[in-house]
Amino acid sequence: MPDDDYLSLLGRAKEKLPETIEKHERFTVPEADVFQEGKTTVVRNFGAIVDALRRDPDHLLHYLLRELGTPGQVEGQRLVLKSKFSPAQLNERIVNYTDTFVLCSECGRPDTHINKEGRIQVLECEACGAHRPVRVRRAARVEEKAALREGEAYDVIIEDMGRKGDGMARVDRYIIYVPGVSKGAQVKVRIQKISGNVAFAVLENS
Ligand SMILES: [Zn+2]
Repeated sequence: MPDDDYLSLLGRAKEKLPETIEKHERFTVPEADVFQEGKTTVVRNFGAIVDALRRDPDHLLHYLLRELGTPGQVEGQRLVLKSKFSPAQLNERIVNYTDTFVLCSECGRPDTHINKEGRIQVLECEACGAHRPVRVRRAARVEEKAALREGEAYDVIIEDMGRKGDGMARVDRYIIYVPGVSKGAQVKVRIQKISGNVAFAVLENS
C-alpha cells in the first residue's frame, strides 16, 4: 500500500534536484541474478547487492523473507530461498528495500546510514546531511498491528450516529457500531464481530 505523503514528498524532492546531479549521480541497484533450482530460488549476487547498498546482509535477508513470506538463508555470496520466485518478484522487493532503507529522499544518493532515535529509525545522508524517518510501507504491517480483537472490551467515544440509529466510534482504522447509545457518550463496549474495517459491539455494562 503506497504511502501517499511519502510519495508526494519524494516527488517534490526529485523535482528540486538539479538536472546535472540527477544525470551524473543516479544510483542504480544491481539487478538480482536469479535462478531456480528445484523448489528453491537462488540469488547468485546477493553479496554484491548488499555491498552496493552498504547494508547488513541480515537486514536485507530478513526484509526479503518477511516480504516474500518464505524461509531462506545466506550461503556465502548467495541467497537461497525455499520457494519459487521470479527475478521480477525479487527485484521489485530489492528496489522497495532500497527506497525505504537506503536512498536519501533529498538528494537521491545511497550514501546513507540508519540511526536509531529511541524507537524510530532515521536515515541519515552522508552526502547532503538530510535525514528522514524510515517508513516501512507494507500492507502486512496493518494486520500485525490490528488494534481491535473480537471478544475484547474497549473504551470508546460515540462520535456519530449511523443511519440505523446505532452509535459509531472510531478506533484505529475501524468504525465500531454500537446499538443503544447516544452521540457523545463515553462507553465501554465489547467487540462481537469484525468484518474488514467495520466492527460490531455491544455495551459492556448494561
Ligand atoms: Zn542526501
